[in-house]
Amino acid sequence: MSSTGSIREKLGSDYDVYEKSLRDAGSSEYALVKEPAGKKSLCVLGPERDRFTGEEKNDGLKLCPLSWENAQELMNAFDWLEPTLPSPEPSFGFGDRSGLATPGHERALDGYDVFPVFAQQSIREMERTGRSPEDVMNTAVWGVFEEGYESGFAADADHLKSREAVEKTAEVGFNMFTCDPSEHVNPAGDRLSGEELEEALRKIDGGEELLEEYSGRKFSASLPEHDYQFASTFQPEEVKRAIVKYFPAVKFAVDSFAWVSEARDDRFIFEVSVDETETPTTPLEHVFVAKELTERGVELFSLAPRFVGNIQKGIDYIGDLDRFEEQLKAHAAIASSFGDYRLSLHSGSDKFSIYPYFAEYLGENVHVKTAGTSYLEAIRLVAEKDPDLFRELHDFALERFEEDKATYHVETDLSQVPSPCELPDDQLPELLDRDDPRQVFHVTYGSVLSQKENDKFVYKDKIKNLLKEYEERHYELLESHLGHHLDLLT
Ligand SMILES: [Zn+2]
Repeated sequence: MSSTGSIREKLGSDYDVYEKSLRDAGSSEYALVKEPAGKKSLCVLGPERDRFTGEEKNDGLKLCPLSWENAQELMNAFDWLEPTLPSPEPSFGFGDRSGLATPGHERALDGYDVFPVFAQQSIREMERTGRSPEDVMNTAVWGVFEEGYESGFAADADHLKSREAVEKTAEVGFNMFTCDPSEHVNPAGDRLSGEELEEALRKIDGGEELLEEYSGRKFSASLPEHDYQFASTFQPEEVKRAIVKYFPAVKFAVDSFAWVSEARDDRFIFEVSVDETETPTTPLEHVFVAKELTERGVELFSLAPRFVGNIQKGIDYIGDLDRFEEQLKAHAAIASSFGDYRLSLHSGSDKFSIYPYFAEYLGENVHVKTAGTSYLEAIRLVAEKDPDLFRELHDFALERFEEDKATYHVETDLSQVPSPCELPDDQLPELLDRDDPRQVFHVTYGSVLSQKENDKFVYKDKIKNLLKEYEERHYELLESHLGHHLDLLT
């Protein structure tokens, strides 16, 4: 029998053992270790090592690469490494584009009652960063093991637009599925009128019946603890708009829910997100979508409406806060009347001024997704530790900016982006505190991380090497910045 601690003795002082990862299971001992050359490995001591692939050392030790194969074996030994269904607390998505951020995210959670999503990536993000669902899952699992985070986490296959994407992510263990029906949302529903609107309605199967069902119907919902009441009557014109705009999307979401159910039985949670659509989701549109989804058997964990105001990537909310608060109250009351699903805030990075409203009106029924803000902390580390690389990245990002911003909602003013060549080294990290430079980096992450020359990554490896070299500082930056997010949300 081994007892926790023998790995350290047997490996000797050339190896760093990640203290919080040390575990006993059965008759073997496990730890994440850093080899003298800086590479991280799983170390297994004892008979269980035969189940892992790796390099056999002396004294019953084996050093195993952080492969997906080994991760799955480790998940068999420790069930807390597997994604689980969330607890009732607010939930928070920590997208990790570098694959190295999870331990920092775990530290940020310390002291907060928040359920984390550590693996969270859309197919679009995976394509842009050259990653696979398996890789996203794999890096999250090793990050969880490194910090010994036993409290549970979910894995969110974000912005799913096809059955194939559902199946691919389900296969590697994702357990939160975010359906993005935005390609089926018809924004013209807001603009059309008269005969054009009638025409669009006629093209929708079941449209006339829905019009009859909803027109003139009263709907009310409340937040008793806030003395708030939402009440409205569906006018025929707005019913037509809602049907034209959202009904095909509802059908796609219903199909998606069936695909996920088939792939995962009942071991999953499901979100529907219409955040990436042109116009805000009105309260009555929310009622329409929620009612149609629930009546068709879709069990919602969360719904991401398109909120009012200007929700840009990587910076705080821009817009009238009173108006936001009023709309949020209506959405919160509606969500509670349909069975208490969560409202989900996408592009949640740095939306500090609206977090308190979510905490106030939704309590635990809130989900937030972030990703860019963690990438920007990695870039901050580059600014701190390798000013020349930072300047290089900045030039490249500026070159890419016009093209890359097309798929994002940003209104960056490039005249407000100072040239890092003219700034002294010690002023570079502060650029990451300013909206416009933040967005230049935010929208170009895909280009930065995937740029290749002679089949080799130009920047990705340099950035990752730096994050590994200054690992503690990277974790510290994440802990502090994401901790600030959690602080305002709870
Ligand atoms: Zn989104």
